[in-house]
Amino acid sequence: MLNVDLAFQKLVHLVRPVKETERVSIDAAIGRIAAESVKAPIDLPPFDASAMDGYAVDATGLAHAAEKRFDVIDESLAGRPAASTVSAPGDAVRVFTGASMPAGSNAVVLQEDAVRQGNTMLTSAPIRCDQHVRHRGHDVRRGSEICCRGTRLSHFHLSWFAACGIEDVTVSRRVRVGVFSTGDELVERGNPLEAGQIYDSNRFAINSLLREKAVEACDLGCIPDDPVTIASSLEEASKNTDLLVTSGGVSVGDADFVKEVVDRIGRIEFWKIALKPGKPLAIGTIGDALFFGLPGNPVSAIVTYLLFVAPTIDRLGGCEPAPPLTLTASVNGRVKHSAGRREYLRGTLQSIDGQLVVTPTGDQGSNRLATFADANCLVVVNEDRHDVEDGESVEVILLPDEAAHPMRS
Ligand code: AMP
Ligand code: MG
Repeated sequence: MLNVDLAFQKLVHLVRPVKETERVSIDAAIGRIAAESVKAPIDLPPFDASAMDGYAVDATGLAHAAEKRFDVIDESLAGRPAASTVSAPGDAVRVFTGASMPAGSNAVVLQEDAVRQGNTMLTSAPIRCDQHVRHRGHDVRRGSEICCRGTRLSHFHLSWFAACGIEDVTVSRRVRVGVFSTGDELVERGNPLEAGQIYDSNRFAINSLLREKAVEACDLGCIPDDPVTIASSLEEASKNTDLLVTSGGVSVGDADFVKEVVDRIGRIEFWKIALKPGKPLAIGTIGDALFFGLPGNPVSAIVTYLLFVAPTIDRLGGCEPAPPLTLTASVNGRVKHSAGRREYLRGTLQSIDGQLVVTPTGDQGSNRLATFADANCLVVVNEDRHDVEDGESVEVILLPDEAAHPMRS
């Protein structure tokens, strides 16, 4: 059985990122991957601006003066700059947050530090040059890089682009992902269950998780346990997808044909990983498409999707996913574990009196979607460990939320 880390490494070498790019509006760019670096087309802020409500003055020579008296000669509001110039030492211009600093001014006296009497403003607070001024280009200078190639564009990147007036961005084309389930026992929701049948949840789960990625996902339905149909369906689908994901049929049962079919019509690069849940995961290629044969058990299918498929989708789009944020927590309860396989249990991570504590979510059977119900993390029990005793330290990685954190580099 292949060690999990070795499997991650081997997989990285199989990925050929898509080459085509397209120009899209930033309105439609969430989750897309920047295919070029993006530079600020303007200084931000574009002018020296007041950071507070108050009075713009020339602070030169005023730092040590006791009480200071100013004539309020004009006002500058956000979007409505003052016409006047602060030209005499006693000039002040009423300013508000975001307003342009009038010519000749270089500091803002806080409204709270000022006493206003008609057109006179008095303050005894010290005034230093540059106080409460946001200088032009202080956030970013025109021409400097605000996003490098290969970045998955978040709400925050796109907001920054908007602030710079950027309308569209060059991104890699969407990765095309085809999803099949396999199994004679599977029934689509909305139909009654006959004897021995179950509802297809893996195809739903994978399609649902794919919605967190900016991919072109294609739900290709359910294939029966028939090698001929499996071969023709996968061959056909491989012609216009970058990645094919199936579930079921990769174990060693009499009706498990997927792996042997892919070995015939394409190539299985590796199969059987020292992983729990998810041991039968099969990874290979069919034509130019990458192939992931996820195990049929619903928990195994989801865990292997998170660990192997999700980061591969990022890489296909040209983005190197960040390694998962690994936290150390003490485990609440005893975890039975046999050395030799790496185990990813579902757990609930809490901070109790400032200490991270993780509680596994009950019987960890790989068929039990219930283990995901209250889970917010995966508890990693490494291959060299035996049973983990109550209170011992374990590593945990957070499960992705709607922000779609990559799970594994
Ligand atoms: P297999 O690997 O095909 O032997 O499947 C292992 C287990 O997962 C069996 O209990 C299957 O019924 C179940 N299973 C396979 N595919 C799905 C699916 N798409 N949705 C729910 N359960 C499945
Ligand atoms: Mg099956």
